[in-house]
Amino acid sequence: PISIMWFRQDLRVKDNPALNAACDKGKLVPIYIEDTTAPDEQQPGGASKWWLHHSLQKLNDRLNGHLQIFLGDPYEIIPKLAKNFQAQSVYWNRCYGPHQMQRDKKIKCALKASSIEVRSFNGSLLWEPMDIRKADGGAYKVFTPYYRKGCLNAAPPRFPQAPPPRIDYADVPLKRLPLDQLTLMPNIRWYHKIAITWQPGEEGAAERLSVFLTETADNYKEERNIPAVPGTSRLSPHLHFGEISPHQIWYAVKDAYGDTENKNIDTFLSELGWREFSYYLLFYFPDLATKNFNPKFDTFPWRSSNIDLQAWQQGKTGIPIVDAGIRELWQTGYMHNRIRMVVASFLVKNLLIDWREGEAWFRDCLVDADLASNSASWQWVAGSGADAAPYFRIFNPVLQGEKFDKEGEYVSQYCPELKLLPRKYIHKPWEAPEEVLRKANITLGADYPDPIVDLKASRQRALDAFAEIKGK
Ligand code: FAD
Repeated sequence: PISIMWFRQDLRVKDNPALNAACDKGKLVPIYIEDTTAPDEQQPGGASKWWLHHSLQKLNDRLNGHLQIFLGDPYEIIPKLAKNFQAQSVYWNRCYGPHQMQRDKKIKCALKASSIEVRSFNGSLLWEPMDIRKADGGAYKVFTPYYRKGCLNAAPPRFPQAPPPRIDYADVPLKRLPLDQLTLMPNIRWYHKIAITWQPGEEGAAERLSVFLTETADNYKEERNIPAVPGTSRLSPHLHFGEISPHQIWYAVKDAYGDTENKNIDTFLSELGWREFSYYLLFYFPDLATKNFNPKFDTFPWRSSNIDLQAWQQGKTGIPIVDAGIRELWQTGYMHNRIRMVVASFLVKNLLIDWREGEAWFRDCLVDADLASNSASWQWVAGSGADAAPYFRIFNPVLQGEKFDKEGEYVSQYCPELKLLPRKYIHKPWEAPEEVLRKANITLGADYPDPIVDLKASRQRALDAFAEIKGK
């Protein structure tokens, strides 16, 4: 018998439950479809496409060149392929985006109607949303009870599975599309630094995990907040594309540290918990990427200012820690979590620009752009989300910089024009006396922008805007 294995956000061979089941069944046709029918906010952005191109290349190598690639509507493609190959079954690992879920349901019905077996598996979540409910049957809306009461009290995550001992490929004639025809790679070569920073694919993911466990995990709780040091795992893009499963990470950490209490490890595992919570929210609130979770924010008086939005997108706001973050994003396809919170808060609060603008920019620029985590995190910062940071808590980017980038190393790295400034002024160059600026070779407004907003006044403006919707 022939089985089709449809790879989606599970671009790996190890711990891939659908692949294992398909290989057990008989001969395999592995496929990938670039789905052109997804709405914009559920399509990969530029940096993700770069990653996907390389990840598919790596997966194809692992499958000895047998990965068949298609472009179009999976609802049309899959039943046709099943018929052409006389496949008896189609297997995949579940996805949780609204478009993906509706699409998969339709495809399942169509295949079943043609007597083709369809099976789906859990490849990418420690706890699937449908398994975690409050005692009254409702869905959790607050992270801590969700994670501590719901997840940690539920059955433990399944153990990772070994890769299939052998893969028997079906000998099927196919007109498959060369990877290049997906045009995932951009015409302009903006990805040089991204390419030297990351190694997409299953092997790259395993290496990141191993480096994390040997070099980073022991100081995770403290160092995860310091953007100038590699204090976190940087597994997020690998997790997004499913080059590694959270199960592999969860049990690798448990194996390395045993069951003893360890604050570094607990913190790290609870970050994986935040990823689960984001998927959980998306599952129960499929409009998470486009609508305010808290409808009070529907009448929030957002400002529309292309000039300010562009200054933010280009890292030219004149606020060093914000500009450094945006430039890190632009150059490497990644931004440190602490800085993501600071730049997002600056956009939605100091500039009073709708969080959806920020979400879209991150979606285009991040290699780890993820519908669930990106929209849940933006709504968290904006105050419109479930269990969100209250809107009135407004990050002061200067204090954030002084606290988490004390020596100004991060700012110096991404805003090198500021690196000669004394530490006292590196996070607020506008306060530096003329003479200090001259010595540091900077003319504000020429070498580095003047701040586009006054931090104090814009903070007050945000509070006033929030007061307008608070009582509603
Ligand atoms: P680590 O600290 O090593 O954490 C391990 C894993 O836990 C991460 O790989 C990630 O999968 C998960 N994780 C950690 N923090 C969070 C979080 N707050 N929410 C959800 N999952 C988390 N993460 C994405 O994966 N994709 C996004 O598109 C994304 N957009 C974000 C937008 C904003 C405005 C903010 C504030 C955060 C966003 N995050 C997003 C969450 C977080 O910043 C990244 O997951 C993290 O920086 C990735 O680095 P890491 O792998 O080294 O994390």
